[in-house]
Amino acid sequence: MPEGHTVHRLAGALTELFSGHRPTITSPQGRFSQGAAKLNGQIALSAEAWGKHFFMPFAPEPTEVTLGEDGPDWLHVHLGLYGSWSFDGDGEFIAVHTIGAPRRRIGEREQLSEGADERRVAEWEPPTPKDTVRVRFAQPHGIADLTGPNQCQVLSGSEVRAVLKRLGPDPLRNNPGDRERFISLVRKRKVPVGQLVMDQAVTAGPGNIYRADCLFRVGISPLRPGNRVSEHRLGLLWDDLVSAMSEGVRDGIILTNPPEYIPLDPIDEQDRRFAVYQRSGRACWRCGNTIAEMAMAGRRLFWCPGCQR
Ligand SMILES: [Zn+2]
Repeated sequence: MPEGHTVHRLAGALTELFSGHRPTITSPQGRFSQGAAKLNGQIALSAEAWGKHFFMPFAPEPTEVTLGEDGPDWLHVHLGLYGSWSFDGDGEFIAVHTIGAPRRRIGEREQLSEGADERRVAEWEPPTPKDTVRVRFAQPHGIADLTGPNQCQVLSGSEVRAVLKRLGPDPLRNNPGDRERFISLVRKRKVPVGQLVMDQAVTAGPGNIYRADCLFRVGISPLRPGNRVSEHRLGLLWDDLVSAMSEGVRDGIILTNPPEYIPLDPIDEQDRRFAVYQRSGRACWRCGNTIAEMAMAGRRLFWCPGCQR
C-alpha cells in the first residue's frame, strides 16, 4: 500500500498537470461513468491529500477553495492495496517536482516507463486505455489513468468533511495543534504504539516503513502501550514522522536509514535504505542486537529489542 507521501506527490502531480484545465474525464472501465460525467468539462482545481486520501475539487469556473468546502464536486480517491496512477504525454507534459517525467506509474512503487524522454511533442498520441482504467483525465498534452483504486467517488463538501472527521492528523499537513492532538490520541489508548502509528484515526499517512523506522529512530519500542509512552517521546516521534515523510515527498523514495548507518557497500536495498524495516535477523546499526519481526494487527512489524524501549 502506498504511504502518505506518495498520495501527496500525486496531488502535486495532478494539480500541476490538470488544474486550470477542463480535462476530459472518462471511465474506460465503466465503473465510474456517472462520476466522470459529473466532472467532465468542469475546471479542475488544486488537489490535496490527507493521509492516504486524495481529493480534487471541480467547479464550473476557476475559484479558490479550501478542503471540504461546499460548492465544488470533490473527486475522492483512496488507492488501497492495488491502486495506481499512470501518466503519459508529450514533452510539455512534465510535472517536474512530482513525477519528473511523463509515462510514470505511481503507486506502491514508482516506475519510469522505457523511452520516456525520447519522444517529441508532435509524435504523441494518447494511448488506448486499458479496460481496467477506472478514470482517465485527458488534456491536449497528456493523460493520467487511475486503475484499481479501493475508492473512487464524487463527494459533496459535507461528505468530504465526514471522511476527514474519521482521520487523525497528517504529519505532511502538520497543522497547528496536530502535534498535541497526535500525542493525546496515542496516550488515550492501551494498544501498542506500533499499532497506533498505523491507525489512520490516530495519524493519517504513515504506513509500515515509516512506522518501523521512525519508532527505531526515536528509540521507542513498538510494543509499548500508547498510554505508557511519555508526551515528550511522542512529540519527538511526531517530529520525526514530519521530517522523514517530508523527505519522502521531496525525493519520491523512502530512505529512512540515518546517514551515519548507511553502509559503504550495502548488501542490498534494505541495508541501504532502512534502519529496521525488512531487516529481521540482521544486526541493529545502533546496538548490534538482532532485528526482530512479528505480526501486529495483520502487518509485519520490525524493531530492535536491544535499543527500542
Ligand atoms: Zn538496536
